[in-house]
Amino acid sequence: MARNLEQKVTTNFTLGELVASGSAERDTDLLAQQHDPPNDVVKNLKYLCKKVLQPLRDEFDFPIEVTSGYRCVELNSSVGGAPSSQHIVGQAADCRVSSRFLTDAATKATRTKIEEEIRLRTGRPVRKDVNANFYLFAKVCLDLNKYDIDQAIHEYGDGPGRPGWVHLAASKGQDRRQILRLGRGVPQEQRRLDVTSALALGTKPKRPTAAAARSAAAETVRTGSYSGQFSVVDGTVVRLRVTAIGVGQFEVVTSPAKLVPGAAGGGAVYDLTVTGSEGAVTRVIVTGVFPAAEERRGGYRIEVGPVGGPVTETLAIIESSSSTYPKRQARTLEFVAA
Ligand SMILES: [Zn+2]
Repeated sequence: MARNLEQKVTTNFTLGELVASGSAERDTDLLAQQHDPPNDVVKNLKYLCKKVLQPLRDEFDFPIEVTSGYRCVELNSSVGGAPSSQHIVGQAADCRVSSRFLTDAATKATRTKIEEEIRLRTGRPVRKDVNANFYLFAKVCLDLNKYDIDQAIHEYGDGPGRPGWVHLAASKGQDRRQILRLGRGVPQEQRRLDVTSALALGTKPKRPTAAAARSAAAETVRTGSYSGQFSVVDGTVVRLRVTAIGVGQFEVVTSPAKLVPGAAGGGAVYDLTVTGSEGAVTRVIVTGVFPAAEERRGGYRIEVGPVGGPVTETLAIIESSSSTYPKRQARTLEFVAA
């Protein structure tokens, strides 16, 4: 018995759109195979919709088009898919978002939120020429765990920040949290990305000034150092909170007179009380040590808020990656209150 392709897998996705294929339309046998996926495949497609596609659709409040979901073995080889492609087992979908997403007034808040998070992570603003697919890509990179992403790929298109589509894979049994960029002219060594470099695909490149070159050289010497700043009004007391994300461990090793380390919450959170003095520069140095096996999941979140009150602003999120964190190396994090 043929499957009911009209059935909804989740609120906004039907089985039909997850097995559709333009390439199979002209071949009756192939189409019949495509339209009758095995039970395991249907189960996997449901998982993909439940964990990834529908939550993204809800978050964007905007249609997400699946250009290619399940591909039976024959179709996969006829379209040149990898023999081990997750499309074959219904664990992957290539997705696109219409360019109307970029101009729709109703999506403004979503776009602004994503742009702000990218700026926090990369320290740079999002370029004006990124396409709508990039917002989808960025969103999953920012929340790999939430969407249980096994693999996300920025595919083809016409340059960084302008993917032709986004390949999204999720599997109950696999959580590699892998991010890739594939396309013409992307060298092998630039294919694998960590979250920050993935988001940086859509940001403005740093201007190569002499000063920047000098500071880049200085940063190379102090591997992994980070500095940022926030304003404090004269005499006010604010709380600077440094939180370890994941399993990274860190300790505050230096605090000038104006910084009073607060209680360390379970070893993961340090509250520092800063008495503001306009124009004065205070510096917090945090040294992080990441356990070798867990280094990929560590990082810091730096937030500011009034003492005894909630966090009012996230200043920076700095995540570790295998490329920036050599095993067990201590990292110095500098934070300047100006
Ligand atoms: Zn794909």
